[in-house]
Amino acid sequence: MSEIQEVLGVVKRRNPGETEFLQAVTEVLESLGPLLARNKKYKDARILDRIVEPERQMQFRVAWTDDQGNIQVNRGYRIQFNSALGPYKGGLRFHPTVSASVLKFLAFEQVFKNSLTTLMMGGGKGGSDFDPKGKSDAEVMRFCQSFMTELHRHIGANTDVPAGDIGVGGREIGFLFGQYKRLTREFTGVLTGKGLNWGGSLIRPEATGYGAVYFAQEMLKTRGQNLEGKICTVSGAGNVAQYTVEKLLDLGAKVVSLSDSEGTIYDKNGIDREKLDYVMDLKNVRRGRIKLYAEEYKAEFLPGKNPWGIKCDCAFPSATQNEISGKDAKTLIDNGCAVVAEGANMPTDPEGVERFLAAGILYGPGKAANAGGVATSGLEMAQNAMRLAWTREEVDNRLHMIMTEIHRNCFETAEEYNAPGNLVVGANIAGFIKVADAMLDQGLV
Ligand code: NDP
Repeated sequence: MSEIQEVLGVVKRRNPGETEFLQAVTEVLESLGPLLARNKKYKDARILDRIVEPERQMQFRVAWTDDQGNIQVNRGYRIQFNSALGPYKGGLRFHPTVSASVLKFLAFEQVFKNSLTTLMMGGGKGGSDFDPKGKSDAEVMRFCQSFMTELHRHIGANTDVPAGDIGVGGREIGFLFGQYKRLTREFTGVLTGKGLNWGGSLIRPEATGYGAVYFAQEMLKTRGQNLEGKICTVSGAGNVAQYTVEKLLDLGAKVVSLSDSEGTIYDKNGIDREKLDYVMDLKNVRRGRIKLYAEEYKAEFLPGKNPWGIKCDCAFPSATQNEISGKDAKTLIDNGCAVVAEGANMPTDPEGVERFLAAGILYGPGKAANAGGVATSGLEMAQNAMRLAWTREEVDNRLHMIMTEIHRNCFETAEEYNAPGNLVVGANIAGFIKVADAMLDQGLV
């Protein structure tokens, strides 16, 4: 049995039922074959066995009271996966589907993604099965305070720096930061995605979406093309989706869809700036459902459907994991889709990934294409450490440079390991080398 299959066997035994985690580990390990064949040092130091095991994993009770005075109990987590390259860094997700498996897959992906950004950050992830949907601001605040009352023991500006993810935006980061400051009597850059007037970075809210579009631009460049006039579908309607649409509009593309967990809106006329402002107000201020867009602008609403049946040139999955099945991937390819840039984490299931690679379309896996968010979090940490703030233009230029560099690195690594154009192989090998070499240097810890 190969070393990779042996390690996968151990991961399966040790993490029973953790399907998402196993999916993410399988994808990474299975692309490392050519690298391991050329480098015995990783086997000698049992790097594979070590890299699939989180350094530390916390699970805790989060008790809080709702507006009616009822006691509620949720489960909180923080997974500190790998600190070879720096303090643990990765978001917090508040969503009813959150489990140890989901957070471990996200933390594992984060290790390699952070490595690709060229900044010094380890990988982690956390969150809770708490659902902020339908909760009042006061309930969200009480939950965040209770959550941070435990979490604060495990994090710190040089230890572990969480950020947002699904269900955790500016409002939640504010409440979490306030409680951290109260408990520790310290005003430090312990969270990223902070408000602009108290330590946040310009462009951080935009960064994941903008970055995914910059990555798509780089992929298209390799075929002498650009985004102008391209028909694009976007899933989700949250942070990543909104700023993906914004950048696509800036670059002259036509965006025809958005979605949420209730369904998809299909706007044949295209989502313009005014309609996007409506979505931002609907989702970020009024916290309403995307269906209302269809009523407002006489667009089609596809209840319970994702956008992958809509004909497009480029697709930007920006909602959640496994939202593109093998069947969806086939439909996209059959309809002429030639670019997929993943704003979400692991949005394509393994059969879908196989199909995209076999079809030879431009496929940017999440750990490369959506790294702009964490990269800009890294820039927020740098500004906090220097106690100064860069301009919007400066941060955006750095983000753009980082995304260009990530693409170049993945593209060239894929060529070097005999998988030209396969950015899955490129991202996994390039991300792995830096972490694994740091682990070798740091000894058996
Ligand atoms: P938000 O909470 O802002 O938005 C999430 C969107 O996806 C909402 O429209 C939500 O719909 C939809 N969604 C979530 N879960 C599901 C589901 N199970 N089925 C269908 N739709 C769903 O999150 P973000 O935009 O921040 O995150 C989106 C994706 O991008 C995630 O995969 C996240 O891990 C990834 N990502 C985010 C980064 C960031 O900086 N924020 C960085 C890198 C990756 P509804 O409101 O109905 O739940």
